[in-house]
Amino acid sequence: MSFLQIHDPLKPKGRAVGIDLGTTNSLVAAVIQGRPRALPADEGDALLLPSVVHYAKDGGVVTGRRARALAPEYPTDTIISVKRFMGRSPDDPETRKLGPYRFASAPGSKVVRFEVAGGNPVTPIEVSGEILRALKRRAESYFASAVEQAVITVPAYFDDAQRQATRDAGRLAGLEVLRLLNEPTAAALAYGLDKGSQGTFAVYDLGGGTFDISILKLVDGVFEVKSTAGDTALGGDDFDRAIALRALEAWGIGDPSPALVQELMQAARTAKEALTHEERTELAVGNQRFAFSRAQFEEWIAPIIQRTGLSCRRAMRDARVTPEDLDGVVLVGGATRVPAVRRFVAELFKKEPLGDIDPDQVVALGAAVQADILTNSEREGEVLLLDVIPLSLGLETMGGVVEKLIPRNTTIPAGAAQVFTTYKDGQTGMDIHVVQGERELVQDNRSLARFTLRGIPPLPAGVARVEVRFQVDANGILSVSAKEQSTGVEQSITVTPSHGLTDEQIEQMLLDSIEHAEDDIQLRQLREQQVEAERVLADLDRSLAEHGALLSPEERARVEEVASTTRELARTTSDHLALKEAIARLDEVTRPFAERIMNKAIQSALAGHAVSEFERKER
Ligand code: ADP
Ligand code: MG
Repeated sequence: MSFLQIHDPLKPKGRAVGIDLGTTNSLVAAVIQGRPRALPADEGDALLLPSVVHYAKDGGVVTGRRARALAPEYPTDTIISVKRFMGRSPDDPETRKLGPYRFASAPGSKVVRFEVAGGNPVTPIEVSGEILRALKRRAESYFASAVEQAVITVPAYFDDAQRQATRDAGRLAGLEVLRLLNEPTAAALAYGLDKGSQGTFAVYDLGGGTFDISILKLVDGVFEVKSTAGDTALGGDDFDRAIALRALEAWGIGDPSPALVQELMQAARTAKEALTHEERTELAVGNQRFAFSRAQFEEWIAPIIQRTGLSCRRAMRDARVTPEDLDGVVLVGGATRVPAVRRFVAELFKKEPLGDIDPDQVVALGAAVQADILTNSEREGEVLLLDVIPLSLGLETMGGVVEKLIPRNTTIPAGAAQVFTTYKDGQTGMDIHVVQGERELVQDNRSLARFTLRGIPPLPAGVARVEVRFQVDANGILSVSAKEQSTGVEQSITVTPSHGLTDEQIEQMLLDSIEHAEDDIQLRQLREQQVEAERVLADLDRSLAEHGALLSPEERARVEEVASTTRELARTTSDHLALKEAIARLDEVTRPFAERIMNKAIQSALAGHAVSEFERKER
């Protein structure tokens, strides 16, 4: 897959799968004889693979149901809900609250690392990689052939770092990630909602520990995510907790042991799932029993369900839609099996939700549909429009720093514009240098195109306004235009697909950007201060030449001394903070001078008038 080229006609079409990499459960699916199907595990395990990875003392790695069973005994060697850690910074105090793990502290590292038995600390990318590897193996044993391509789903709200981490996890598992697809979009695809021409849909996703609501709009075959809302600590697990609390109450246990809690939670989950089809159920832990009805259960969980309503209303408000505007509501997530949840959704959105596709398979099935469209030559062109930009597109600005206009993973077609200004007085041309990549400095990114906008009217620095517009069309082709706003002078260029990047190049760039993230930020900050110093010093030289008489010889000597220290520092230091301080000091000593120049200008503008701020200051 090369950049700016969505379909490579020369690429061999292979078996591609769709993967729902969930917080609680993950699943792999593929289109088989024209229909998407979830692929079963071979050892008679359930379809859903619990998203749990256990690291054993002997260096072995266990995933899924067996790993989940080991969690109570080995809480720090068994990583549950790793998705919550994806793309998170180890410095974020919230990160450590996400689980009872031992975090390895590697100074200066930008990635979370869990200390686990049997080997080196592992990152969330590696842990997710194990889950993906297990699913890849499952697909390979089902097809009895290699599976190397996948569409992987991510929550619509995932940011660039989280998406990048997911993609890297795929790579680590030996999968070429054809695309990262938003979970709600995948669900909509599974229901074939893309077959209509227009429509607005809500996707209500209640999983094990997270709730997401998304409003999607289909316009000419393209799904746009209009808004998302949700709660990262709300899900089916809360229903289990509600049951467990009632059982403990009934048994008069005020201070249960962790082992009892663990066992009870498992029993509560089983009982809850049974109530989806039955009116009464009973759970047993040790020799204690607790029987309850569906009606009781619904009463206990009512406040939890109500809470999802708040997010739904917020999402509708943000997308500026009312329930009447919605053409459909899709149910996603195992917890939407609970009948009371379905009733609540129907009432809130004033329509019967779409729920006949298994809600815990629907995302994986949609991902499989997407994977098929991308690799099956007969379906070529069906949803080209859902593609994303794999690496950020930006412009070179002063000091060789990149200003990103379109971040990577933006869905295409996409556009962005930004206004830039001239740097020098009387500047009539502006160089537009289009670059691609994730690094902060131009030299570390790929140069895509370069042109000069001429005919800017000669104006003082910072007055001319040049709007640079990026447009990436449905085929991934970028055009760039630059327009000076007062005169309308315009120039543009099209970047053609032949300048593609190979996958290896993208990979290397991603690795580099992870490795160099820290240096890059330092360098960028230094460059910014250097540019600022240059600007301030040039201003000062000009002012001294024109208005030098406004300063006494001593004042002038002082200003020149601080200016020369700053100039020297700008050349030599690698410490952006030191340079920033020097600039601030220079600003401080030149301030009275600047004020006098300003006053003089006012004075000449008011020539003939008696009032003069400048004179008063001089006294
Ligand atoms: P995630 O998206 O977080 O990976 P899932 O969509 O797999 O999670 O949902 C898991 C949740 O769904 C769990 O709380 C599980 O108990 C619940 N669940 C699964 N099946 C049923 C059922 N038949 N009735 C009620 N809840 C169910
Ligand atoms: Mg899910």
